Amino acid sequence: MTVSVVLFTSDLRVHDHPPLRAAVDAAHEVVPLFVRDPAVDRAGFAAPNRLAFLADCLADLDAGLRELGGRLVVRGGDTVAEVCGVVRQADADEVHMAAGHSVFARAREARLRRALESDGRRLYVHDAVATVVPPGDVTPQGSDHFAVFTPYLRRWVSEPLRAPLLAPRKVPVPQELRSEPLPERASVADVSEGLATGGETEGRRRLEAWLSRHADVYEEIHDDLAGDATSRLSPYLHFGAVSATEAVHRARARGGAGAEAFVRQLCWRDFHQQVLAARPEIAVEDYRPRHDRWRRGGEAEADLKAWKEGRTGYPVVDAALRQLAHEGWMHNRGRLLAASFLAKTLYLDWREGARHFLALLVDGDIANNQMNWQWVAGTGTDTRPHRVLNPVLQGKRYDPDGAYVRRWVPELADLPGRLIHEPWRLKGLDRAAYDYPEPVVDLADGLSRFRQARGRD
Ligand code: FAD
Repeated sequence: MTVSVVLFTSDLRVHDHPPLRAAVDAAHEVVPLFVRDPAVDRAGFAAPNRLAFLADCLADLDAGLRELGGRLVVRGGDTVAEVCGVVRQADADEVHMAAGHSVFARAREARLRRALESDGRRLYVHDAVATVVPPGDVTPQGSDHFAVFTPYLRRWVSEPLRAPLLAPRKVPVPQELRSEPLPERASVADVSEGLATGGETEGRRRLEAWLSRHADVYEEIHDDLAGDATSRLSPYLHFGAVSATEAVHRARARGGAGAEAFVRQLCWRDFHQQVLAARPEIAVEDYRPRHDRWRRGGEAEADLKAWKEGRTGYPVVDAALRQLAHEGWMHNRGRLLAASFLAKTLYLDWREGARHFLALLVDGDIANNQMNWQWVAGTGTDTRPHRVLNPVLQGKRYDPDGAYVRRWVPELADLPGRLIHEPWRLKGLDRAAYDYPEPVVDLADGLSRFRQARGRD
């Protein structure tokens, strides 16, 4: 009787899962294993929203495996020690896992390989599980990564795509192997009230629903804040509950401009992964330093606090930050506006904003979060690094009826029409009737401060 182990990490699904398929094909029995490793939490994962979503994903993965005759085995501790322990207990010959691209994941993989090989077992690492195109697979001449999106996209779209895999028909798991209890969502404190339900079942349902309801209109309305027509798949992709490769296949099969635009967004995800894989230090350092001397100290601290609380006095920015607090998720246009306001209008260090996002975002990941923040701050891969988004004009454009602001900033809900984006234009008693802060900064002052700081006056 041969046994193999499949180690789940950021790939919590049974469909289109190359390591699971390989493990099933390789042996009579398979141990589907997830290790709750405190080192992952210490590396920045342990935000309540992500822990709660993870609990959902693991419960759903266990249920999915049970439908195939198996179950999930959960252990807690150092990944390498726990995998080796399970391998010995089950007398497994080989371990299968997805390639990870962070420094942490690569170091873990190297350690695991050494430990298994010294014990006469083998580790198989599968590419294109977390990303569509693995980092480093397409590179420009003379460099280890693409620094600009459009040329990357051109190469990415012409890469051959592996066919998505069905879930295995059966996953026979050795009977006697002990598992710790699955973590429970209910035991996680400080979870955002409106946090989505995690798991592959819900992720696949959302992919279907989005393809049939929104794919056709996505290109026109993906920036409409109140329209909410984006897929909201980011947390499912982040935890691997939905396969990005399968999502690309499904969207291409659907066809049309909206589906293509969606595929382009998935390419952004791979783009950021390949930048971070090549330059891990940009999680904290500027990718393209602009010699910024970000504001610090008393007034800057107060501005940062107002921003985090969604009380900057700019309704669309505040709406976005309140959506983040309530749902652990934010519309992409909201993220752009909130980030531009922090880094460029308030001229506060993008790292402060990125930290706040990572504390709350259910899809929060280092590659997408830090690289998008840097893109907005102008220290990243944006080819127009000094552009500044005006929250009033952007509010009027992407929330023309003010429905998004009304939803998240209820104290302004009965302000008429577009005035909702400029409540300071109300005078006297009218103004006093609204319990809403004055703007923390004058937009013109913010702009001239930013231009001076970047030496562009
Ligand atoms: P859709 O519009 O339906 O797009 C489909 C998928 O494409 C998304 O689920 C996501 O996986 C990917 N995608 C879309 N836009 C981007 C992008 N700009 N960069 C990378 N991938 C993208 N995304 C994260 O997944 N995690 C983060 O931590 C994160 N932080 C961000 C921080 C800032 C300041 C900004 C401006 C953007 C950030 N994004 C992040 C990117 C983007 O905002 C979200 O991926 C998107 O809003 C998720 O919603 P959706 O699933 O409905 O997207």
